[in-house]
Amino acid sequence: MMRLLAPLKAGSGPLLRAFSSLSADNGTQAGTLFGSLGGIVHKDLPPLVYHERYSADPWPPKHSFPMSKFSDLAELLADTNGPLGDEGPVAMKGAFRPMDRPPHKWFEAVHDPPYYRAFVGGALDEKAIRRIGLPYTEPLVDRTLLEVSGTVLAARLALKFGLACNLAGGTHHAHKGFGSGYTILNDLAVASRVVQADGTASKVTIVDCDVHQGDGTATIFADDASVRTLSFHCQDNFPAVKPASDIDVGFPPGAGDEDLLSALRRVLPHEFAQYPPDLVLYDAGVDMHAGDRLGKMLISDEGLLARDYYVISTCLEMGLPVACVVGGGYDSDRDVLARRHSTVFKAAFQAWREFDMRTNWR
Ligand SMILES: [Zn+2]
Repeated sequence: MMRLLAPLKAGSGPLLRAFSSLSADNGTQAGTLFGSLGGIVHKDLPPLVYHERYSADPWPPKHSFPMSKFSDLAELLADTNGPLGDEGPVAMKGAFRPMDRPPHKWFEAVHDPPYYRAFVGGALDEKAIRRIGLPYTEPLVDRTLLEVSGTVLAARLALKFGLACNLAGGTHHAHKGFGSGYTILNDLAVASRVVQADGTASKVTIVDCDVHQGDGTATIFADDASVRTLSFHCQDNFPAVKPASDIDVGFPPGAGDEDLLSALRRVLPHEFAQYPPDLVLYDAGVDMHAGDRLGKMLISDEGLLARDYYVISTCLEMGLPVACVVGGGYDSDRDVLARRHSTVFKAAFQAWREFDMRTNWR
């Protein structure tokens, strides 16, 4: 029987062995992007991206990172009695699967190659692992790559169809050369670089509404005008040091729905008009919610839905494709947390219908 959470041994994993055969992008351009990876774009539903290994298994049951939330969310969305009703099962059945072994060059365009290679090769040192805060196992490495791969796919789908959602993503505390705060490789940064390399987007704007400031993303793009970073977060929360994004809106603890919505209304239309991007990546972290264990803000269920709908609809009104990722969310009640994370999907489904995306998108 497999030991629970056997720690990753340097050089022992299949991911390291895969290095020799995976030195180049092994093909995800248009031909295979929407075909062999599955996925059906239904007229009435936005494309979703999911992989059953998003939730690393096994996982320590008492660990403070709620690893089961990705599969819990998938299960909830696929439930006829869930928040998406009959549309959920149809959308989940047609969900796109991210590529299993994304090419190294995607990651090395953002992260320091020695850090990235140490991570996938099982060779991170104790200090680096402690800073990440997650048990370093092969299923963790696997799900980390899949999650980034999923955000890349959602970004490509959004560029094609106008709107897409990944059932994971938002690893914004990952810096170039180290991970922190439960995040290891920065999916928002990697997706930005991949679509730029694809030639389908030259300017990307990242709208980060996770309660924690997007420090990794801010640092990675500090000197890069082609990727704008916007972070809406609680000022009195992790990370202690908050390197400057292009725009930072720090809310005090206890800030509520109206504080958040008025800030978004003040910033987003002006920002998009002044620096029109080719793609928006939206981190819809639910740790702003009043019930969140780590959040410190007081956003209600309705506030989260209004926020998500506002961000998505503002993008679409201005003709900007938007790819959504779930971001952070912490609650010991798995069902409550999955429902909270389903909010952005509800907003996306509503926007897809109201904008009649399949008919109207360019
Ligand atoms: Zn967070």
